[in-house]
Amino acid sequence: MRLLIMGPPGAGKGTQAKGIAEHYGIPAISTGDIFRAISKADAATASDLALQVKDIMLSGGYVSDEITNQIVAERLAEADAANGFLLDGYPRTAGQVDALDQMLAANNTTLDAVVSLEADQEELVARLLKRAEIEGRADDNEETIRKRQEIYVEQTADLLKVYSDRGLLIGVDGLGEIDEVGQRIFAALDAKLQR
Ligand code: AMP
Repeated sequence: MRLLIMGPPGAGKGTQAKGIAEHYGIPAISTGDIFRAISKADAATASDLALQVKDIMLSGGYVSDEITNQIVAERLAEADAANGFLLDGYPRTAGQVDALDQMLAANNTTLDAVVSLEADQEELVARLLKRAEIEGRADDNEETIRKRQEIYVEQTADLLKVYSDRGLLIGVDGLGEIDEVGQRIFAALDAKLQR
């Protein structure tokens, strides 16, 4: 099973990604997690790549397609991804969509589905504000929260269209308890893959 997951900030994408991976026995591969791990390397031993990734992440920008595609290609070549995977946070650009297509074609495989977690924006903003208050995150004010939601919509609209045109997109209501949303995802995926 070869899957992608997309979802706005606060929709619980990372949590659902782990649940899906466990349910279907495939690795959940998050490019954000990979880049965070790379950038954590000790300053004294850090490679050029680690320093570069750290700077980019701090600035809030994207790591280049060249580096990102290479890192994903290497990760997908690992043994545990041979029979399936769930990618979280990738692809994020048209260039990454093409690169992923090429990686899959080289192995005579294709994607099975793209899960899109959907949630009302006002509901997400309210949720994130509450979390910021509980956790004392001063930088998570309403303005930055709304900005991140907008950026998500801007950045993913084209990608969602690509996968929708290919008949791969599955929209799932992302609001509710973690398990409840998880069950919705499994039901939607099972229905799609049986077809
Ligand atoms: P995330 O946890 O998915 O929000 O990713 C954290 C950061 O890692 C992003 O802000 C980017 O700097 C970088 N990153 C993660 N995935 C990608 C990607 N597919 N392409 C480029 N940069 C990425």
